[in-house]
Amino acid sequence: MLLKLYGTRGSVPVCTKETRKHGGNTTCIFVEAKSGDIIIIDAGTGIRQLGSDLVSRGKHKLNLIFSHYHWDHLQGFPFFTPIFLKRTEITIFGPSEEITAEKALSYQMTMPYFPTDMASLPSKVTFKNLKKKLTIGSVEIDTIINNHPNHTRGFKFTEGGKSFVFMTDNEVHAQDGKTSYDEFVNFIKGADLLIHDAQYTDEIYKKRLGWGHSTYSQVAALAYDTGIKELMITHHDHSSSDKFIEKNVKTIRKKYRRKIEAAADGKTRRF
Ligand SMILES: [Zn+2]
Ligand SMILES: [Zn+2]
Repeated sequence: MLLKLYGTRGSVPVCTKETRKHGGNTTCIFVEAKSGDIIIIDAGTGIRQLGSDLVSRGKHKLNLIFSHYHWDHLQGFPFFTPIFLKRTEITIFGPSEEITAEKALSYQMTMPYFPTDMASLPSKVTFKNLKKKLTIGSVEIDTIINNHPNHTRGFKFTEGGKSFVFMTDNEVHAQDGKTSYDEFVNFIKGADLLIHDAQYTDEIYKKRLGWGHSTYSQVAALAYDTGIKELMITHHDHSSSDKFIEKNVKTIRKKYRRKIEAAADGKTRRF
């Protein structure tokens, strides 16, 4: 499978010369299965560019999965060109524990917030509740409940014996968390790559307990405990410059002596 990151920023998009290298778009990742199926996770502002790329490649059968419905994970949806094209068939999966994907998107895409509403989209949109496990083409997707305010899920993608875990908006050591540290370790174990939220430093985290995000060192320790060889840090804080992100990644890389890098918009990886 092919993985491409289209949005790696947390909370709100940023556009400054200090954040250009890692990018300023909010969460969106693209997966293309060997079977040709297209799977998108989240519709942060990164989905705008993805939409243009899919249109120019003539791809019109799509799957979009939501981890949760916080603003930074769905704000790009009204600017996703394929939904305005008649030939597009899109299946949207989302958690239904608090609100369905259909309702969450409809609340965002309605007047006076946006001039077009969901019901008038010319594309064929099908909504499905996100289950614990699903299969799309040749890719199997397992999910786990993250520790985050509002119901949020992390994902493990597996195809042909290769796998990666994408877990954003997750506080690994949350007090009274929905999922224990050991459960996270077991979920991640055996994957080839972990992409995990590390929005804060340990110092900043002290003032952000319960906000649903992790620190660089917590996530590096998690990767170490799972035995995973490769870690990618994502959901960069909107106030973190490229320099700041790289300095923090360098520190944990030195301590844990494994392949750790910071996610960046546009980065690709084949499995
Ligand atoms: Zn987020
Ligand atoms: Zn969130």
